[in-house]
Order: sequence, then C-alpha cells, then structure tokens
Amino acid sequence: MSSTGSDAERGAPAGDREKVVLSEAEWKQRLTPEQYRIARKAGTERAFTGAYWDEKRAGTYTCVCCGTPLFSSYTKYDSGTGWPSFWNTVEPGAVDERDDRSLFMRRTEVVCAVCDAHLGHVFPDGPRPTGRRYCINSASLELVPEEKSPEGEGARKESAPDGGTEGQGSG
Ligand SMILES: [Zn+2]
Repeated sequence: MSSTGSDAERGAPAGDREKVVLSEAEWKQRLTPEQYRIARKAGTERAFTGAYWDEKRAGTYTCVCCGTPLFSSYTKYDSGTGWPSFWNTVEPGAVDERDDRSLFMRRTEVVCAVCDAHLGHVFPDGPRPTGRRYCINSASLELVPEEKSPEGEGARKESAPDGGTEGQGSG
C-alpha cells in the first residue's frame, strides 16, 4: 500500500473557486462504484434508472464529487430521455464544456468546473429561453432539497447582557 499523495500542489484558482484535485484512489474512497464509473470515468447511466430523472422536488443539484452547486430544480424539465435534463446551469461558469468526439458523434461534454467530474452532455435542442438541453447523469449529482421556511422566523431573541445593575449607594 504505497499510495503516496504527492499531488498536493494546487494551481491558481480558476475564477474565485479553487480546483478540487484528488487522486483516483481518493475518488474511489469517496464515491460509490457507480458514481466513480460515471463521474470520474465519463460513464453513462442507463436511461430511466438514475435517481433524479423523474425527481420533482425543489432544490439545488450539486456535484456528487465536490458539492459545488451546478443546477437548480427551477431549470429542470422533462425531456423524455430518462436522464435529468436542465435548460440552464445554476450560474454562469458552474460547468465547463468540452468537445467530445467519442461514439462517432460530435457532442459537447459537460464537466464540473471545480473538480472536472463528468456530468453529461449539452445539446442545442432544449426549450426556451436558452435552447439548451443539459443531459446529466443522476450519479454525478446530489440533490439538496430546498428547505421550507420554518414557522416563527424572525423571532430570534437576543439575550441582553445583564450586569448593568445600577446600584447607587446613597451616602
Ligand atoms: Zn465537482
């Protein structure tokens, strides 16, 4: 077991985010075999088998590898493909796009901008307003459900520091 992690160097942060760079062994420890196969090895889950293709809850879809917010449920739509589909990212720069010429097709691969996790592909046949279809593997995502606002918000008590007892001794 000589897994020397000598890759502790970090390059200049891209934008305002630091890149997350881990070794293959470290990713294997963090992820399930399915997540590892898809997110780190550019695999594809079978249609209609993932956790989120039919997910309706509101929330933010984060990168399963590094937790970076990638997509919002507000841009999720039913594309009929069997994969979670979005017409936009949660914010510009959340993902990087790469030319992918595998499988005798020319496609655009989508990866996490922070850790380079393979997410899926983006196609130009999405709905308005963007016209884009981000076709993403569930295994590369983790949904953080939106919390409903709890009752009685804003009723925070501040404990006043006591100790200001004005005791004037009368002489
Ligand atoms: Zn990531």
